[in-house]
Amino acid sequence: MHSKVVIIGSGPAGHTAALYLSRATLEPVMFEGFLANGFAAGGQLTTTTEVENYPGFPEGIKGVEIMEKFRQQSLRFGTNIITETISKVDLSARPFKLWREGKEAKDPDTADSIIIATGAAAKRLNLPGEETYWQLGISACAVCDGAVPIFRNKPLAVVGGGDSAAEEALFLTKYGSHVFVLVRRDKLRASKVMAKRLLSNSKVTVLWNTVPVECKGNGKLLNSIVTRNTKTDEIGELAVNGLFYAIGHAPATELVKGQIDLDEDGYVITKPDTTYTNIEGVFAAGDVKDKKYRQAITSAGSGCMAALECERWLSEKFDE
Ligand SMILES: Cc1cc2nc3c(=O)[nH]c(=O)nc-3n(C[C@H](O)[C@H](O)[C@H](O)COP(=O)(O)OP(=O)(O)OC[C@H]3O[C@@H](n4cnc5c(N)ncnc54)[C@H](O)[C@@H]3O)c2cc1C
Repeated sequence: MHSKVVIIGSGPAGHTAALYLSRATLEPVMFEGFLANGFAAGGQLTTTTEVENYPGFPEGIKGVEIMEKFRQQSLRFGTNIITETISKVDLSARPFKLWREGKEAKDPDTADSIIIATGAAAKRLNLPGEETYWQLGISACAVCDGAVPIFRNKPLAVVGGGDSAAEEALFLTKYGSHVFVLVRRDKLRASKVMAKRLLSNSKVTVLWNTVPVECKGNGKLLNSIVTRNTKTDEIGELAVNGLFYAIGHAPATELVKGQIDLDEDGYVITKPDTTYTNIEGVFAAGDVKDKKYRQAITSAGSGCMAALECERWLSEKFDE
């Protein structure tokens, strides 16, 4: 199969790109993935309950439901959505080549252009109890989940010692009664200014040399975490109703590693204020290229940019 443009990934970035490209009659093909990178088609939002900060849904909307709406809108204008994962690409020459998972021995699909929208995943600790209380007290995004009622005026904990952890903890002081920051070492990795803001906030207590080792609750909601002192091995228990991971994200770039410029954390590098990668005809959108904002709306925004830039590139290349 040859297409003018293939979109790899089916989160807000991929679907927004699909919507724009299909309305522009470019007949995009989307590989939405089959449990690619550990996510159902639709991406990270399918793992959450309420989404309250996506404009247009004043009452909030379930993560699965909003992604189904994205999908319907892509289909409405003729996107060809294929429920398979791309396991291998060859970006060394155009048309680019793409292989589907399990069909690597067959002839590859080809495309004049590609939009990489494979997303990212928050790193997790895989603690006992984590699976039970994931999204029932445990989260990897304070901006997304901090305002929900289960955290209001409750003691909360953040794990991590970098800038993200400091930012998440300070953000959570608006909602929680107190915020404990669990730092594995005896110092923060966060920048001086963030560390100062964190340490001087009266609603924050930093627990040095401390890691969580178990998540406990009443079967419905988290209500405490077991902690271990990394120096003394002393075990403690902290009564908190929220545990926020701020230990980093892993962008889904294994597919393009070694073929496209990635930064030191594995994110696709795009030219400033654009979605252009270092390879002509290959664009990147969403969390796979964004380590700063990581929101559905910013991903959708960059999906739109990728589609417009791809459309322009295709017309310059092929319409002369
Ligand atoms: C629990 C949770 C709650 C969140 N809540 C909010 C919120 O309330 N508001 C908000 O704005 N943001 C929220 N976010 C963040 C938001 O989900 C992300 O910023 C957004 O989904 C990123 O979109 P994306 O399109 O870049 O990629 P993703 O949503 O990461 O989707 C990428 C998709 O591509 C697929 N894929 C990956 N590799 C391949 C491949 N090789 N072939 C085919 N398919 C592939 C994946 O399976 C996945 O379905 C939340 C995130 C999480 C984890």
